[in-house]
Amino acid sequence: MTTNVAATAGSDFIREIITNDLKAGKNGGRVVTRFPPEPNGYLHIGHAKSICLNFGVAREFGGVCHLRFDDTNPAKEDVEYVDAIMEFVHWLGFDWGDKLFYASDYFAKLHDFAVELIKRGKAYVCSLTPDEMRAYRGTLTEPGKDSPYRSRSVEENLQLFAEMRAGKHEEGTHVLRAKIDMASPNLNLRDPAIYRIKKAEHHRTGDTWCIYPMYDFAHALSDMIEGITHSLCTLEFEDHRPLYDWCLETLETPCHPQQIEFARLNLSYTVMSKRKLLELVEGGYVSGWDDPRMPTLAGLRRRGVTPEAIRDFCQRIGMAKRDSLVDMGMLEYSVRDDLNHRAARVMAVLRPLKLVIENYPEGQVEEMDAVNNPEDPSMGSRKVPFARELYIEQDDFREDPPKKFFRLSPGREVRLRYGYLVTCTGVVKNEKGEVVELRCTYDPATRGGNTPDGRKVKATIHWVSAAHARPAEVRLYDRLFNHENPGLEKDGKDYKTHLNPSSLETLPQCWVEPSLAGAAAGSRLQFERLGYFCVDPLSTADKLVFNRTVTLKDTWTKLEQRGEVD
Ligand code: ATP
Ligand code: MG
Repeated sequence: MTTNVAATAGSDFIREIITNDLKAGKNGGRVVTRFPPEPNGYLHIGHAKSICLNFGVAREFGGVCHLRFDDTNPAKEDVEYVDAIMEFVHWLGFDWGDKLFYASDYFAKLHDFAVELIKRGKAYVCSLTPDEMRAYRGTLTEPGKDSPYRSRSVEENLQLFAEMRAGKHEEGTHVLRAKIDMASPNLNLRDPAIYRIKKAEHHRTGDTWCIYPMYDFAHALSDMIEGITHSLCTLEFEDHRPLYDWCLETLETPCHPQQIEFARLNLSYTVMSKRKLLELVEGGYVSGWDDPRMPTLAGLRRRGVTPEAIRDFCQRIGMAKRDSLVDMGMLEYSVRDDLNHRAARVMAVLRPLKLVIENYPEGQVEEMDAVNNPEDPSMGSRKVPFARELYIEQDDFREDPPKKFFRLSPGREVRLRYGYLVTCTGVVKNEKGEVVELRCTYDPATRGGNTPDGRKVKATIHWVSAAHARPAEVRLYDRLFNHENPGLEKDGKDYKTHLNPSSLETLPQCWVEPSLAGAAAGSRLQFERLGYFCVDPLSTADKLVFNRTVTLKDTWTKLEQRGEVD
């Protein structure tokens, strides 16, 4: 991605802050950001917002952006996730160069900072049970109470903390707490835990540690250790900022990154919490992290969405200081806009109805010229075989057409795109009375769909040659949830009750034009009149499989306005 510095710098409140910091000569003119995922799930479109912001800002201001795995919770983390996160940051078009870090690399340093806090009388080992600790914490309206262990001496604290580290105590028996203020109106400052005992293998440090730092403490100090200048995070951390600052001020660290909060991306008709996404995967509600209905980058990629479309979307939604719900239609807009330029047009029939042209010579095949992308002449054209027996879409025929239906019906003439004008002369029905075949005649003077006599036909429909088309399976995706904000779980309703039962429709017997015979996995196409599709990774030459990325909608409206379709 090439980003125009002049056009974007200062274009939102974060870039404005950074511009002003640079003007004021803060941080020696450096801009260092970081993207700090916890490796406990796959990246989703919300993470993309944070990635585009952090890497984007670094790029625009000539700074650097670190990729730091926030791997301080050994229980839920996995190397599978670490690898996938790196893959998808790259896929989105960003690079951390040699700035790859793990919070777990700082465990020794973080431990030493904790010891330093104890020595300064700013941390103590608390031996209340988790329940007692909760009771002592108070509420939003009532102040908390000091723990009876708050007055332990520095020596005793050092001794106990060393024992915790040596594995002499069981989980939950002691925690190290920052000594701040049990009466603070901000609950995060009521002597928060900064280290806890956890006897779990860590995916990188193995069993070296049995105590692990808590997020706020580890995060502030990791930022500081790396010399981060602007620590950009989502709004729910606003109330944590005083604790972030407290850690750095109390330890009198050589640098003090500035935490700035922005609104998290919430997208309609989906959920973004990793816990819920994991549950959807593990419960078999979707086929995996890369199910094309998932809001994960893996799912979006498999669905045919490009990194360019995602970056465009992230830029369009901008940076806000208030949380909101972004319409899924915004993402679809960016996806359509991007695919409109890059996707070659082809013809495919999803629900086939045979059409036989009775006056077309048996055995004759004509290669018709078809434009690959009217938006981009440089994409050239291709040949599409035309023959006596074709498939058209069932939808494009009505035996008894309603008033505004201008497509095929008995006695009516339509244009076959890039083919000829045909008139329906009869139908063949099965024993149930369903139309299974159309009989037509064609006008040989209308090759290419032209009408030399200037006569008008109201509809143009797509088709494939029955003898030449390739069979394909096509998967149509719809929204995963049928509720705008399923994650709210209002009225105690589990978000899963809002799963859309028809979010996946598999059409096993479709036909695509022969030019798609060897289409590579990941190829993106527009099936004329139907939408944007991509070749699924599991597609083979014997069995082509396509995923619908998005419907056409607006593009189709344009064609309608030009009178090319009904
Ligand atoms: P969850 O709460 O579901 O576990 P998380 O925010 O803890 O998600 P992390 O892996 O810690 O997930 O996130 C890494 C970074 O991505 C953080 O800086 C976080 O603020 C940011 N991020 C996560 N979700 C969103 C979102 N929906 N919109 C914008 N940024 C996000
Ligand atoms: Mg997190």
